[in-house]
Amino acid sequence: MDTSRQNEQLYRDSISTVDKDGKRVWVYPKKPKGKLHRGRVIVSVILLFLLFSGAFIKVNGMPLFLFNLFERKFILFGMAFWPQDFFIFVLAMIAFVVFIILFTVIYGRVWCGWACPQTIFMEMVFRKIEYWIEGDANQQRKLKASPWNRQKILKKGGKHLIFGLLSLLISHLLMAYLVGVEEVKEIISRPPTENLTGFIGLVVFTGIFYWVFAFFREQACIAVCPYGRLQGVFLDKKSIVVAYDYLRGEKRVKLNKKAKVSLEASGEKAGDCVDCSLCVQVCPTGIDIRNGTQLECVNCTACIDACDQVMEKIGRPKKLIRYDSLIGIETAKKWTFNPRIVAYTSILVLILSVLTYLIASRSDIETTIQRVPGMLYQEQENGQISNLYNIQLVNKTFQDKIIRLQLKNHPDGTIRQVGSEGEILVKAGELFTGVFFIELPKKELNGMKSSLTIQVYQENEIMDEVNTNFMGPAN
Ligand code: SF4
Ligand code: SF4
Repeated sequence: MDTSRQNEQLYRDSISTVDKDGKRVWVYPKKPKGKLHRGRVIVSVILLFLLFSGAFIKVNGMPLFLFNLFERKFILFGMAFWPQDFFIFVLAMIAFVVFIILFTVIYGRVWCGWACPQTIFMEMVFRKIEYWIEGDANQQRKLKASPWNRQKILKKGGKHLIFGLLSLLISHLLMAYLVGVEEVKEIISRPPTENLTGFIGLVVFTGIFYWVFAFFREQACIAVCPYGRLQGVFLDKKSIVVAYDYLRGEKRVKLNKKAKVSLEASGEKAGDCVDCSLCVQVCPTGIDIRNGTQLECVNCTACIDACDQVMEKIGRPKKLIRYDSLIGIETAKKWTFNPRIVAYTSILVLILSVLTYLIASRSDIETTIQRVPGMLYQEQENGQISNLYNIQLVNKTFQDKIIRLQLKNHPDGTIRQVGSEGEILVKAGELFTGVFFIELPKKELNGMKSSLTIQVYQENEIMDEVNTNFMGPAN
């Protein structure tokens, strides 16, 4: 690699938010505005509304979502999932990861810019409040440099107070998804000493959110988020990313006659980039997208909007910075499917199909019935043949269930439970184990081994059907 090329690549050796002494470089991004930003505001408002309202929505008396890791209670779309359903959860997680990979291979970091809660809260909530109180980037810099006077104390104090209150709200929201809205109401309506764990949880979450949004900021995307760090693996030359059209933009030259004339005198042609640095000034991660795709770029589109406004002003076509692939920029060809995308899509469709089947065929009561090992059949005095069975019933709901067993296609057969009469109470989220006899008339048997089906009823609704064997004498 020649020296000039090496120098061009030097920016990859360090991150823009840390100086050469290892100190944080605070980013003061200029207020973004433009068509894409307006689109992102609309999407963010919708997503925030869904996030906040989702915690209060109930389906059949159940929350829409609950991720109670402490009591191992999980609810998705109003359906309860228990540790017994762990394999569905694992499959759902695999499907989610494959989806993320597939999506990233095709569309790059669209998720980061448009839907990630960190970006939405940071750029659309906290940053907007900062602009409102402290002004745009230059005013923020001035305020930072100014001595501590009444105005600075009021502005900084007011901002951090609002940040703290918002963090408190977000931590309550998170708790509502973890333990349920009712539990959160309980925690806040009683003295902290009566639910110290819940209270500490709220304080810790509030502290973390406040620190992340007030101080840590873009470092969460750059240094912590594993998704961002995996971009090098996911992205290829055909992935859609926020990209600078260097073929059109270079050689960049300032918007003054003198610079243009001196460039032309050297035999080079001026590109469309006027080196105004607006794309860098609006970047919330402090990078220069003209250097190429970088780990820090969260695809927020602020640089696209900024550059479009510049192009409009100087009468050049927009989209010097745009959503495109590297191949698209190099060849001006449209994006197409590649074998990697086809392979990921096939795997994703397969996993999603299995997942849908498992969720659709999952019953509220899971039943396991097996003949008691080592027990022979018994012949009764009335000529009936009986077999002994073990039964396990798992109630996957949050309500107690009264269960009744019935033989399918054997009207003369009977089920006789040991230790209980007719109906079985299976408590919410609990496992019931028991034994029972099945008695069948000899004439209904097909030799030594007959198959039969046992139906599991709750009131008049069939909850599950189980096939088993029935042993009897040879004819
Ligand atoms: S480079 Fe552009 S899209 Fe990427 S983070 Fe910066 S402003 Fe956003
Ligand atoms: S905003 Fe556009 S014209 Fe200005 S420096 Fe960036 S790429 Fe060049």
